[in-house]
Amino acid sequence: MPFIDELHLHLAAGRGGDGVVRWLHLKGKDLSGAAGGNGGRGGDVVVTAIRDITVLLRYNDQKSYEAEDGAPGGSQSKEGRDGKELLFEFPVGTVITNVQTGQRFELLTEGQREIILQGGNGGYGNEHFKGSRNVTPRQSTKGKPGEEADFEIELQLVVDAGLIGLPNAGKSSVLNALTGAHAKVGDYAFTTLNPNLGALYGFVLADIPGLIEGAAEGRGLGHTFLRHIKRTKTLIHCISCEHENPIEAFTTIRTELSKYSNDLAEKPELILFTKRDLLDEKTLALRVKDFAKATKIPAKSIVTVSVYDDASLKELGDTIVKALRKK
Ligand code: GDP
Ligand code: MG
Repeated sequence: MPFIDELHLHLAAGRGGDGVVRWLHLKGKDLSGAAGGNGGRGGDVVVTAIRDITVLLRYNDQKSYEAEDGAPGGSQSKEGRDGKELLFEFPVGTVITNVQTGQRFELLTEGQREIILQGGNGGYGNEHFKGSRNVTPRQSTKGKPGEEADFEIELQLVVDAGLIGLPNAGKSSVLNALTGAHAKVGDYAFTTLNPNLGALYGFVLADIPGLIEGAAEGRGLGHTFLRHIKRTKTLIHCISCEHENPIEAFTTIRTELSKYSNDLAEKPELILFTKRDLLDEKTLALRVKDFAKATKIPAKSIVTVSVYDDASLKELGDTIVKALRKK
């Protein structure tokens, strides 16, 4: 899935329309009073959060955007039309920083809406200055400029479920099979150098590259990867059936997680035995049973899958979606 997680944009709200000088013409009189309308407001710059992690791409080919200006006032006291707002749709998890003021906006929930730049007010028409002592003022004011600034727009992923596990555990394969993402698959360590993303019924799944021992100390591929799972809601811990000692595989990853952050270690975790086609049913059942006993994780909560078995994939997809909907 094509994906970018950063944008730099120069944005400008619309300028207010100018107020105008106009006169009301009544039969038989030259000047029958001020009737120039006020200018309309300039359009705001607005951001809103949607569930589409690829949407930043839409704004990637242009460096600056402007909201519409307000229209000038008209005769017969007519107000100028307000400028249209400029609306950006960003993924949930986007952080928007005004470089000049340092103001930050975080989009945390779908549908959230924030005005990040205010349009300028319209100017006053001469009617505004009309009073009992002066019904023919010749004065009007110009519209105010809209706010304008440079913005840093950064997507801090909110991953609903992150696939973790040792290198080669089958994470990328499972992600591909479930979501149609095109993560690289290979039977060597660290196929994945960046998290790969896929969507399952609107939920974001990420394949989190192989954690290795020492990752928490920043060795190897450690920190940059772990950063991406920080905000993950649920972990899917993949353990390959190739592993004769799944408990060891499990413990290795668990140790890394808790070294990195307690927060992470406390996230709900689904245990997934992958590549189950490599074992006969009996051996598989025994593995699961032993694993459950040693880890005190209920055996019936452990899911097994093979990417070559559609029924098992469907079951896995349903289990994940059900778990995520619960929250
Ligand atoms: P990752 O490093 O955890 O992302 O693992 P990959 O998805 O790259 O898979 C590692 C290897 O295991 C690849 O050669 C895959 O083809 C293979 N593999 C993945 N899933 C299955 C499966 O369900 N059954 C079998 N037999 N092999 C699988
Ligand atoms: Mg991979």
